[in-house]
Amino acid sequence: MKTVHHWIDGKSVEGTSGESGPVTDPATGAVTTRVDFASVAEVDAAVAAARTAWATWGTSSLAQRTGILFRYRALLDAHREEIARLVTAEHGKVHDDALGEVARGLEIVDLACGITTQLKGELSTQVSHRVDVSAIRQPLGVVAGITPFNFPAMVPMWMFPVAIACGNTFVLKPSEKDPSAAVRLAELFAEAGLPEGVLNVVHGDKVAVDRLLEHPDVAAVSFVGSTPIARHIHATAGANGKRVQALGGAKNHMLVLPDADLDAAADAAVSAAYGSAGERCMAVSAVVAVGATGDALVERIKERAEKIVIGPGEDPASEMGPLITKAHRDKVAAYVRGAAAQGCDVVLDGTDFTVKGYEEGHWIGLSLLDRVPVEADAYRDEIFGPVLCVLRAGTYEEGLALINASPFGNGTAIFTRDGGAARRFQLEVQAGMVGVNVPIPVPVGYHSFGGWKDSLFGDHHMYGNDGVHFYTRGKVVTTRWPDPSEAAAGVDLGFPSNG
Ligand code: NAD
Repeated sequence: MKTVHHWIDGKSVEGTSGESGPVTDPATGAVTTRVDFASVAEVDAAVAAARTAWATWGTSSLAQRTGILFRYRALLDAHREEIARLVTAEHGKVHDDALGEVARGLEIVDLACGITTQLKGELSTQVSHRVDVSAIRQPLGVVAGITPFNFPAMVPMWMFPVAIACGNTFVLKPSEKDPSAAVRLAELFAEAGLPEGVLNVVHGDKVAVDRLLEHPDVAAVSFVGSTPIARHIHATAGANGKRVQALGGAKNHMLVLPDADLDAAADAAVSAAYGSAGERCMAVSAVVAVGATGDALVERIKERAEKIVIGPGEDPASEMGPLITKAHRDKVAAYVRGAAAQGCDVVLDGTDFTVKGYEEGHWIGLSLLDRVPVEADAYRDEIFGPVLCVLRAGTYEEGLALINASPFGNGTAIFTRDGGAARRFQLEVQAGMVGVNVPIPVPVGYHSFGGWKDSLFGDHHMYGNDGVHFYTRGKVVTTRWPDPSEAAAGVDLGFPSNG
């Protein structure tokens, strides 16, 4: 059986803690791999390597950094297929979807390749007599990233390329459920010429994470995962004096107005609800149908959902793969089984589903719940599976109020032909990312990704300008170079003012 080791100081390092975890192929249910779990001492070794590397990386030239990043970009591009296959083997998502995740991660490497522009700084000349002011941004030091299972390649790439391009060194703790892609990303960066210790990967569970949160040499923590853990990360890292951004869970609503193109809306709802088996933080998990069009919309969603082909991610015919674990599959099924008793109309029940020849896989079919009350567990909780709730609203205002009452505020979308209504929605909805006739509005790499409310704890979104700001701190330099012919200004005890 394969074992996934840590990646510390530019090489693969076998675990010494004696602890490890299973990695399962979700399509077969078989444990294919074991992953080492780091002890406190092993996390400390990774942080020490990063700290040593920072002594030179923190002052390396922009030309050196971007040269390595451009080589890394080319290597990643050449290894898209391989990384996508690692993702599918451990996560279960279908190959095209895995390729899409690698492509979206590459966008952030593109951003990092252009870090020269992002770090240019600002200069104001002659703010006072012979005084100039410049603003520069400098790296923080050693920073840590903790990432979820659902995007094992893309979410790490939201973090480390930007952090490293800014001059920091990095310790990544990827999800223990699908750790192989992260290690491959680190190996390829080393192949591109990244010096030893600049990017380290330690595997593990709460022991490894909590050590990173309290380690005195870790300056900042980026986290992506579920809301309860995001809260813990934000509180603990903050209490330890670290800069922290912690992105949490979601319940993303799609508001469909009566004038919307119903076929386009149904296509979008099915794609966004059931893609990656609903295991996306930007999945649409609640459709809010406004006015009398609800029945026609539900009928169209049902027709499309019934045609989705479910199967192993490596089969090109599969459109949707299995869930990450058996326990998660059972949890998702329980929401659907309990839905009717909580007042939902169960239009599609996917709980009794398997794939021939893969009976031990973590399968579940597509479920569609209509007229879902806001009190139902299926609506209140983030299910993170292929379950779409439809809620009905009489007016735009009622639909908006329903969305804004959600504790989550990650992504949302409006489907309409009315530009005025769409404009109101952009301004009035309480969410960090808004789509207008776009169901999964994941911002491109040069904007920033992040939600509101219980979907993000901290001030900075990921990547884009926010990412650069998160991984650097500002410094303002005020300079006076007197003209050599001028006499000294003399003593003045007044507070400096600019004249
Ligand atoms: P998770 O919160 O269970 O795990 C995330 C990371 O935290 C993993 O590395 C895990 O090892 C670690 N962890 C788990 N329990 C911990 C604990 N008690 N103490 C310290 N560390 C712990 O999340 P997941 O199940 O891997 O991923 C799915 C969740 O991530 C969903 O809620 C999804 O919405 C969310 N997510 C959010 C975004 C976003 O951008 N907002 C993106 C992707 C996923």
